[in-house]
Amino acid sequence: MLKNDMLEQWDRDNFFHPSTHLAQFARGEAPQRVVKGGQGSFIEDREGNRLLDAFAGLYCVNVGYGRTEIAEAIAEQARELAYYHAYVGHGTEASITLAKMVMDRAPDHMSKVYFGLSGSDANETNIKLVWYYNNILGRPEKKKIISRWRGYHGSGLMTGSLTGLGLFHNKFDLPLDAVLHTEAPYYFRRPDLDMSEADFVAHCASELEALIEREGPETIAAFIGEPVMGTGGIVPPPAGYWEAIQPILEKHDILLIADEVVTGFGRLGSMFGSDHYGLKPDLITIAKGLTSAYAPLSGSIVSDRMWKVLEQGTDENGPIGHGWTYSAHPIGAAAGVANLKLIDEMNLVQNAAEVGGYFTAAMTEALLEHPHVGEVRGEGMLCAVELVADKGARTFYDPAGKTAGAVVAEMVKEGVISRAMPQGDILGFAPPLSLSREEADQIVATTAKAIRTVLG
Ligand code: PMP
Repeated sequence: MLKNDMLEQWDRDNFFHPSTHLAQFARGEAPQRVVKGGQGSFIEDREGNRLLDAFAGLYCVNVGYGRTEIAEAIAEQARELAYYHAYVGHGTEASITLAKMVMDRAPDHMSKVYFGLSGSDANETNIKLVWYYNNILGRPEKKKIISRWRGYHGSGLMTGSLTGLGLFHNKFDLPLDAVLHTEAPYYFRRPDLDMSEADFVAHCASELEALIEREGPETIAAFIGEPVMGTGGIVPPPAGYWEAIQPILEKHDILLIADEVVTGFGRLGSMFGSDHYGLKPDLITIAKGLTSAYAPLSGSIVSDRMWKVLEQGTDENGPIGHGWTYSAHPIGAAAGVANLKLIDEMNLVQNAAEVGGYFTAAMTEALLEHPHVGEVRGEGMLCAVELVADKGARTFYDPAGKTAGAVVAEMVKEGVISRAMPQGDILGFAPPLSLSREEADQIVATTAKAIRTVLG
């Protein structure tokens, strides 16, 4: 195929890119990459550069690129039936099969799965279901939702409000009033360096309890959290965190939403983060790993106790007034079925635990002694390297983000894609779950070299 040499210009002239510095991009000052192909852990751009994608797209291409099993399932579904809706009891073989496969994998106390298209819309669904639930139970004042600072739950009106990152609020008139934020379980950034991990967990719990008491437990409907924080910095919780949080929620009859958009389907080395940390959520948000991003599809998994109330609600009020045209889209569902089969066949949950553990250990060994590496942390196939200006005093670079950005840029020159996480100098890694040890070694060596180039 002839190369279209206008493509980069068309891109600048016409394409409104998400999460991009619009002015710099239009002026040609910001990075621009047109991606053309992918195989396994690697992508290829149209200049012919082959890059090891240590972030699996946006932590979503969990089975790796170029899996023909999924491509063929999508093509077959498109030929047979590209679309039919799921309203008023309609379904397709693919969507029903996928629902069964998801529920077979979900924690035992979960009942049904609703399918959407993105993590954001699945979380919007979750908040509506929480509000509906409390209305049916006759407590219309119990509506506020608590999330954590640095949590990421999407960028819609409600979900952007739940997201606890200023970048997603500023100038958008967010967060909305119904949303409250509490302390992030981020031990490395604890308010007082003398706090032990146990002290810090107690601090997070007491901050939560104080917020609930201040607002009135009768006004708080739900708490939403990622089992391991992703976009906020890839932050596994300190030991005992979820054990301390869950009883507080139970005590005040507050629902738990486990946002497993990143952690669902194996990323932590367990099928769900809820299994990994012993969570008993009322709703689980799924997306990315459900189809490994071969087609857009998300879901809200609903617990038995919520489901009973939703049924009661429709007996009292008629059909549930919620649905998208593309809910349970057959092409997404076909991709999901093929993807979940592949995760089993390739043993990827176990690979995430094993190679992921190896990866974080190797990164730690290579970097922890560096004077500007404050922490290396990880869980399963997630890893982060936090850069600090002064290690002893644990002070951060100002402005935040530039140093990690420079390391990421240096790494790309060496053929590896990592991600500078927002609001800090944090290098994030979330490779495909199919990563090999050799690929892990390549990421570690490239990271160490780039850090030395940028920081000495
Ligand atoms: N929740 C979490 C935990 C996420 O990481 C993301 C996306 N990174 C979302 C929700 C939103 O998903 P989407 O971008 O598909 O709307």
